[in-house]
Amino acid sequence: MKYFDHAATTPPHEEVVRTVAEVMTQHFGNPSSLHRLGEDSGKLLSRAREVCAESLRVSPEEIIFTSGATESNNLAIQGVMTQYRQRGNHIVTTAIEHPSVYETCKQLEKQGCDVTYLPVRADGTVTAEDVLSALRDNTVLVSIMHVNNETGAMQPIAEIGNVIKNHYPRIIFHVDGVQGFGKLPLSIRDSRIDLYSLSAHKFRGPKGIGLLYVREGLMLAPLLAGGGQERGRRSGTENVPYIVGMAKAVRLAAEQQEHYAKRLYKLRHILIEGLQQLPELELNSALSGAPHIVHFSYPGMKAETMLHMLEEEGFIVSTQSACSSKRSEPSRVLLAMNKAPDCAASGIRISLGEEHTDEDVRQLLRAIENTVGRLQQLKGGNS
Ligand code: PMP
Repeated sequence: MKYFDHAATTPPHEEVVRTVAEVMTQHFGNPSSLHRLGEDSGKLLSRAREVCAESLRVSPEEIIFTSGATESNNLAIQGVMTQYRQRGNHIVTTAIEHPSVYETCKQLEKQGCDVTYLPVRADGTVTAEDVLSALRDNTVLVSIMHVNNETGAMQPIAEIGNVIKNHYPRIIFHVDGVQGFGKLPLSIRDSRIDLYSLSAHKFRGPKGIGLLYVREGLMLAPLLAGGGQERGRRSGTENVPYIVGMAKAVRLAAEQQEHYAKRLYKLRHILIEGLQQLPELELNSALSGAPHIVHFSYPGMKAETMLHMLEEEGFIVSTQSACSSKRSEPSRVLLAMNKAPDCAASGIRISLGEEHTDEDVRQLLRAIENTVGRLQQLKGGNS
């Protein structure tokens, strides 16, 4: 089986797996304990925080460890809106955010927040001017993802951050960095980001662990009441083995970013060129998208049918995103890009990884071509 679903999750690095096992067995103390075992875990935790901070080019005090980007996004958005309630109740986000942002905003609307869901252009992007025109005196937070998890559309984060801060320095800027980290360069400081979410399993770390960067000086109302770990901002005994494993994956991803992006762009180019030869398919990813995601539709055909036919040929791909694929509605992201419901219900996402070769991608293309041929025959037979 060839795995082409890296946007859903990635195979962990062997080095990460070894590290997690070693820390779990040999350094299992609670980092809050005062004895030697606790101190030992505490040191590993501090070192992992330093490694994550160095790789993101921020300070260790600005990193909060969480259970993943879902928690990081919830903590960022809810934490800010509770903490800075006196500043206003307005949030600006986009119509294509991950559910962990989108549904959090929906929940906050029920509690009296006013949310602007910026529409996106046909290529799935917003511009810095679009964001600026939505800002008001009572805007507290802007939350925008770096790379969309379904289509790979990239938002101009540095431009957006600079426009926000030049006009409204007090507005807080949150970026869901999950699909961009390790794939695209991004400077948290130069983009003037206040909050930045990551999930380790998207860059070959363990699942169920992530982090939130919180700019120094920014306050956050915590989601969880408890023992006051993470300087009171995220209670709960720290998952030291996974944190150390994540630190390893963060470092490798940051070090290799340029190299991986080059490789992935080459593979994506081969893939897109091949898909463009199949007139039945509609490409939903812009050519300028992120290096690892290509999304297309086969209008008139259920995406699931194609997914299973490709699986029979030995290729694992995805419909929409893993988080939404069990729902039967057409993709909210594609509808926001003004795609017809027929197209939005028949989407297939291919997401590439650094282990793929040119030949893997060519084999996948041949499998897609065969599948399209078979589906055409089925269609012909039905009509
Ligand atoms: N944001 C984006 C853009 C994602 O792709 C995902 C994972 N699909 C998340 C947030 C949530 O990450 P997790 O499920 O690991 O909490």
